[in-house]
Amino acid sequence: MVMFNEKTTLNPDSRTDTEPFKRLRRLRMTESFRAMVRETELSRNDFIYPLFVVPGKKVRNEIKSMPDVFQLSIDELVKECAEVKSLGIPAVILFGIPEYKDEVGSSAYDDDGIIQMAIRAIKKEVPELVVITDVCLCEYTSTGHCGIVRGNEIINDESIELLAKEALTHAQSGADLIAPSDMFDGRIKAIRNILDRNNFQNIPIMSYAAKYASGFYGPFRDAAESTPKFGDRRSHQMDPANSDEALREVEQDIIEGADIVMVKPALPYLDIVRRVKDRFAMPTAAYNVSGEYSMIKAAGRNGWIDEQRVMMETLTSIKRAGADLILTYFAKDAAKLLPTR
Ligand SMILES: [Zn+2]
Repeated sequence: MVMFNEKTTLNPDSRTDTEPFKRLRRLRMTESFRAMVRETELSRNDFIYPLFVVPGKKVRNEIKSMPDVFQLSIDELVKECAEVKSLGIPAVILFGIPEYKDEVGSSAYDDDGIIQMAIRAIKKEVPELVVITDVCLCEYTSTGHCGIVRGNEIINDESIELLAKEALTHAQSGADLIAPSDMFDGRIKAIRNILDRNNFQNIPIMSYAAKYASGFYGPFRDAAESTPKFGDRRSHQMDPANSDEALREVEQDIIEGADIVMVKPALPYLDIVRRVKDRFAMPTAAYNVSGEYSMIKAAGRNGWIDEQRVMMETLTSIKRAGADLILTYFAKDAAKLLPTR
């Protein structure tokens, strides 16, 4: 055992008289020093920009609770994607508002569904942009639930078969990455299997692995028109109080074949992002959700905070917590502020 010798390093009396304490401020004195020792830097490559697609032409509906975010028809969506690409943002994730809804969410796996057509249009006009598709049924079911409902129960195993079918149609339409957001058990395995059986073994899956039943989704439900008609999502999304359970959820998705794991929402769950990153060392995404966005926008518009500064601080905090990828409605605004390299 090495014995600590009091007379050496840590005895305050042995320190030099000129430095009775450590001057941590030295490296904060100039912007050059601050830049040299900065631990976390945002990059455009960190961002995934969420987009909402609606039927029609020349549609650009601003979402009331989400300033500067729009529901877009496919023609407008393609223009938006070109802009996103020109800003250096590598990827978008698509959410669809379909022509029709029914109990089994048929419009989610219709070859001519809104998302399927949107993917084909983007891939034709902006082929290098990575197109990620959200896979769930809540935007497509008449109940507004993420799966098939019988009585008061959302039926797990039948629902995941439909989700797999939906994922396959996205891949067949040209999607680059599939992102199931439902939180049912076994969906990653079901989707991986159907993709592999149909020669899409190289299409990766980003799972919404630890998705919480959160009040921060409120504005999104206006945007995606996916509010449940009755009940809530607490039988499949996670209890905000739980953290160990998030690790079990993430582990299961990795075992089933997820390539990227996501924590959603981001800000109230930064501790979960850190635990997931430390435990699994997987490519990790965090969804900076609608409520997080709208709070900053609203306070910014009221002059209560400096919107740009708070936005950059927020995004930096998500990356610092361990996220490699950030899904955020701020992607375009933030990209405009980042230096071009
Ligand atoms: Zn859903």
